[in-house]
Amino acid sequence: MNILIVEDEPNIASFEKLELEHEGYTVTLAQTGREALTIFEKSLNDNTQEPFSIVLLDIMLPELNGIEVLRRIRKLSQIPVVLVTARGETFDKVNGLDAGADDYIAKPFAIEELLARIRSVLRRSAQQETSPAASSPASSSVITFDRLTLNAASYEVFIDQTLVSLTKTEFLLLKCLLCHQGEVLSRTDIINEVWGEDHYIDENSVDVYVRYLRTKIDEVFNVSYITTVRGAGYTIRKPSNV
Ligand code: CA
Repeated sequence: MNILIVEDEPNIASFEKLELEHEGYTVTLAQTGREALTIFEKSLNDNTQEPFSIVLLDIMLPELNGIEVLRRIRKLSQIPVVLVTARGETFDKVNGLDAGADDYIAKPFAIEELLARIRSVLRRSAQQETSPAASSPASSSVITFDRLTLNAASYEVFIDQTLVSLTKTEFLLLKCLLCHQGEVLSRTDIINEVWGEDHYIDENSVDVYVRYLRTKIDEVFNVSYITTVRGAGYTIRKPSNV
């Protein structure tokens, strides 16, 4: 299995390479974002090489940072990407998940943790490939709610007939609330469902994403679907008739 590691600090890069090779992975190193993109793009067109299965991407890179590299990778491919960050960088975390990261790991980390995350991301991505629309078997792929329609298969959300442009995380958050209509979800419930239980997401990130959703839905369409339940969490409610 091929891993692309993007890391500008030679000590960390060689430590990761050594450990991952010891686990049986084939490792390619890139020291800058540009180099990573060049290597990755080339791999997509090279039939002689086994394709990369996962990218381990440092955020703080010279010139082109990790988030920008991730955005460009996402234009080409849905390959699993694990971002490597310094502990507690909430801003980067939100940006990274928005840009399409599959997981995060904070430096410094134990190699066992890195290996566990790599395995978990690969497992999830294999599941998605075998059952594309099976994230929530109890719900059908189209959920309607008042003026809102969410299509889980096509990742589209409409209010009336207008398409609402959401990021992947915003979409998953909205879907999570819609799948639990009438329930109040705690921030932890939301994190577990939207990001997965094995993620380091702090509860503030949930508030940040709720704010994004309200900006794109409630404010634009003059509704108030997403309701804060003080001390408990969030729920989605149909507005009472005015
Ligand atoms: Ca770095």
